[in-house]
Amino acid sequence: MEAVLSVDVGATWLRAALVDPEALRVLKLVRAPTPQSGRREAIPEALREVVREVVAGERVRREAGVATIGPLDARRGVVLRAPNVAGRPEMVDVVGPVVEVGGVEEVFVLNDCNAAAIAEWWARRSRGIEDLLYVTVSTGIGAGCVLSSRPLLGRRGNAIELGHVVVDPSGYMGCGCGGRGHWEAYASGGNMLSFARRLLEDGLIPSSSELAEYLTSGGQDPSEAFRLYRAGDEGAAQLFARLAEVHAAGLASAVNALDPEVLVLGGSVYLSNKDFFAGSVIPRMSSYLILEAPSVEDPAFGEHSPVVGAAVAAVLGIREARARPGG
Ligand SMILES: [Zn+2]
Repeated sequence: MEAVLSVDVGATWLRAALVDPEALRVLKLVRAPTPQSGRREAIPEALREVVREVVAGERVRREAGVATIGPLDARRGVVLRAPNVAGRPEMVDVVGPVVEVGGVEEVFVLNDCNAAAIAEWWARRSRGIEDLLYVTVSTGIGAGCVLSSRPLLGRRGNAIELGHVVVDPSGYMGCGCGGRGHWEAYASGGNMLSFARRLLEDGLIPSSSELAEYLTSGGQDPSEAFRLYRAGDEGAAQLFARLAEVHAAGLASAVNALDPEVLVLGGSVYLSNKDFFAGSVIPRMSSYLILEAPSVEDPAFGEHSPVVGAAVAAVLGIREARARPGG
């Protein structure tokens, strides 16, 4: 089978890959830092470069895939105003560059977490898995879902923005999106120390603890909080008891809404701290679940799951993801 051109527009990296959609293997990969100038044309220009380099001398299938940070308008093939890219450029064209220099005719565009969910589902199809929820806990919290073997993409490709479900209606923490009480505002890698600082200010983390000392000295590394938790620090114990509850509530709410057979957990915060999730988060889910607990599994592709998933979507011709620029 011909390789599929697939592109991943991340907040930090742009990746262009050639993917073998049957073996689910990345055959060739070129990456470049995502421009942070805020200029609308900067990302399309950088995309042309990585796509040109990856397709040089290669034959590719006529359908290509794009996985991208959101929010997006998949039909028009644009990223609207990504909160995680400096300058928040508007209406960034992620399809035009792929068509112009990739030698392809059709482009299928997905939110990166939806693409990852498709990759994880496709990797398990020989087991007969039809219902899968993918959740990533990293700088942010995101998710994608395939139900009855159909990806759930939503009106413009932004379905399952799970990091922004409300896990605390008191709205104790404000979220980067402008909302309050969202899962991501408490428990993502980018926000958990802000949550800890707030708890410290409110006297809910003992000021004599090592975590309090780390926060007061300006510490910014969430992995240090995990280390103190494992070392038995009292302040970290207070923080992580709350984090476990927030993660369990978020995950269980998603399972109650979607009824997946498999829950794939990924993202750097999860993958580096699986002991915390297995020991404290997953067992707590049962107190929020009305449905049978899904089987919890690790991701098959690591950082490559968005490019693999977008390639699979292109080969399957997933109608809702087909871009019609200008239409
Ligand atoms: Zn939010």
